Amino acid sequence: MSLTSFTESAQDLRDELVALRRSLHATPEIGLTLPRTQEKVLEALDGLPLEISTGTALSSVTAVLRGGGRPAGGDAPVVLLRGDMDGLPVAERNDLPYRSEIDGRMHACGHDLHTAMLAGAARLLSGRREELAGDVVFMFQPGEEGFEGAKVMIDEGVLEAAGTRPVAAYGLHVISSMLPPGLFTSRPGPMMAAADVFQVRVKGRGGHGSSPHRALDPVQAGCAMVTELQTMVTRTFDVFDPVVVTVGQFHGGTADNVIPDEAYFEATLRTFSRDARALAKRRLVEVVEGVAAAHGLGVETSFGMGYPVTVNDADEAGFAERTAGDLFGPGRFLVTPQPVMGSEDFSYVLERVPGAFLFLGACPADRDPATAPYNHSPEALFDDAVVPDGAALLATLARDRLTAAAALDA
Ligand SMILES: [Zn+2]
Ligand SMILES: [Zn+2]
Repeated sequence: MSLTSFTESAQDLRDELVALRRSLHATPEIGLTLPRTQEKVLEALDGLPLEISTGTALSSVTAVLRGGGRPAGGDAPVVLLRGDMDGLPVAERNDLPYRSEIDGRMHACGHDLHTAMLAGAARLLSGRREELAGDVVFMFQPGEEGFEGAKVMIDEGVLEAAGTRPVAAYGLHVISSMLPPGLFTSRPGPMMAAADVFQVRVKGRGGHGSSPHRALDPVQAGCAMVTELQTMVTRTFDVFDPVVVTVGQFHGGTADNVIPDEAYFEATLRTFSRDARALAKRRLVEVVEGVAAAHGLGVETSFGMGYPVTVNDADEAGFAERTAGDLFGPGRFLVTPQPVMGSEDFSYVLERVPGAFLFLGACPADRDPATAPYNHSPEALFDDAVVPDGAALLATLARDRLTAAAALDA
């Protein structure tokens, strides 16, 4: 079967996808509960030949499209496409006809475009269902911005929505600066950092500042911990697998001549490999416990919720690169040399399913990508002219990856 490109049919959907994106932009919702957003997605999918289910602990939408070219009997391959849907607690400062109508909330990370692109991919693939050698799961996800929405959807079964686990998963993220509009980027291996919060309470025994030998000084021991953590990083990790530990807050004491009972500090931990993250989390605890023991006092440690490293499978990143190049020309795809310091909860999917996460430049043509406000800024602007191409790429990745998987099985 010779397959035609999705780019033209995506442009035919342009007006309705842009209208959906702008409607979502005007009414951003935050966190795991996005009822209005969910309603708009269900409306956009209405009438398509999809098996649709919604979340329990969150207002997710999972849609399954059964391919017309599935092998008779037996399991068909499955590909998962993901779009996140939540906004941010940011007060929009853009003057747009479709600017946020809700005070203090904004689609400042472009997830409104992601939702429209994924709805577009569902439309495109539904229209060419007979070309699909397997099934597609569309994962419309709330709560990316710090709420672990992807993990909640995994717990609720999104990876088994079609019956068998996907052979591949893809996600796209728009960026309002740095990249020229329409440029896709990705890379094999680590794509985005893991970000963890390390919390330390140093438990000493207070006393008079003149007589430290009668007390157990948590400030002194805490300061030793802070410096030892830096030494640990340089003596434990390969510099080519970067690890950053920064103690960003330190609190203790009330007066110059009083030794307090306790001191408290927090550090951010950034890592780019699963191994480095696991080792760093262990070593951070060992170092502060070791220093505490050396000083004869106690310590309590904990980690705040943090997203894992977003790791692209090398084959899937290569497949995405070839697919984007075939679809739009090689000049539209760049293999980015370095991972990005931000973090993403699509990482939870990529821990379980090989796949790739891509960026798509969406800086408006009248702004300079070098200076345009970045994602999360109250002035971030995303040009929705990229939405049809994003939808076309997602649809093509799903269709062609299913074809490749079915060919391998045959
Ligand atoms: Zn964001
Ligand atoms: Zn985002």
